[in-house]
Amino acid sequence: LHRLRGRLARSQSVFGKSVLGLLGGGDLDEDSWEEIEDTLLMADLGTATTTAVVDKLRSELAANPVRSADEARALFRAVLVEHLMPELDRSVKALPHSGHPAILLVVGVNGTGKTTTTGKLARVLVADGRRILLGAADTFRAAAADQLQTWGERVGAQTVRGKEAADPASVAFDAVSQGIDSGVDAVIIDTAGRLHTKTGLMDELGKVKRVVEKKASVDEVLLVLDATIGQNGLAQAKVFADVVDISGVVLTKLDGTAKGGIVFQVQNELRVPVKLVGLGEGADDLAPFDPEAFVDALLG
Ligand code: GDP
Repeated sequence: LHRLRGRLARSQSVFGKSVLGLLGGGDLDEDSWEEIEDTLLMADLGTATTTAVVDKLRSELAANPVRSADEARALFRAVLVEHLMPELDRSVKALPHSGHPAILLVVGVNGTGKTTTTGKLARVLVADGRRILLGAADTFRAAAADQLQTWGERVGAQTVRGKEAADPASVAFDAVSQGIDSGVDAVIIDTAGRLHTKTGLMDELGKVKRVVEKKASVDEVLLVLDATIGQNGLAQAKVFADVVDISGVVLTKLDGTAKGGIVFQVQNELRVPVKLVGLGEGADDLAPFDPEAFVDALLG
């Protein structure tokens, strides 16, 4: 929690200082409510969630005025946690079953942190004693396979890659085949994120999934979203969600942004569990997403 707080320092100055400062100040006039609303919008909480959060705070406070800063914090905490859908299952399915490895596809637009996330996730799983194989199906970006292989060497996972400009689906197929033959626990496939057109994406990603499913069922499709790009990211996410069934979201680059409110928007609009968050470029900068711990870190 301490580390999470450190990484979320910029968002914390919005939630924990600005908004909480106003809420804890006793009777709020219309100007203060407007300021709270503007602040939450600036933090990328989105209009729908901001309205819902502010309405809830107003009605709770009308019924039960807070008498201390601690009470204000407890109220704000409860309202925020509730808006992160705490009931969702956020476990990453990475255990072998029915005689084959767990298959995880990592999807998202280039530059969001797909390859880095694949590497970090492999590291977490290897540290847990699992045998992991990485599939470099991002054959569009020339350096992606090298980057993934470097991660593999770093964390102790084998990497399967294709020739330059190979068909992503054939690399994915080879990775899964090798993963089955060598009896690994999970195969994590880094895909290409070419969002030139929706049909292009659908063809490519749809094909990867179809081809992989000839060998084994897909356990997770993790969508990687860059937390710093706000509405654009959300629009991208919807395109991906239309093309493949997303089972979880990884929100990267939450470190260094004051717009951590995007987590609420992603959670409420996509209604797919946010499972992991990226908190930096380093190998250990991937954390499971826990709504309560996250809100605690936001409030400081
Ligand atoms: P891809 O094109 O989606 O595979 O993206 P990459 O994995 O190559 O990442 C793009 C850039 O984002 C790299 O410079 C990464 O180091 C950086 N990056 C990825 N995740 C995070 C994160 O959680 N925090 C920060 N600060 N940078 C990140």
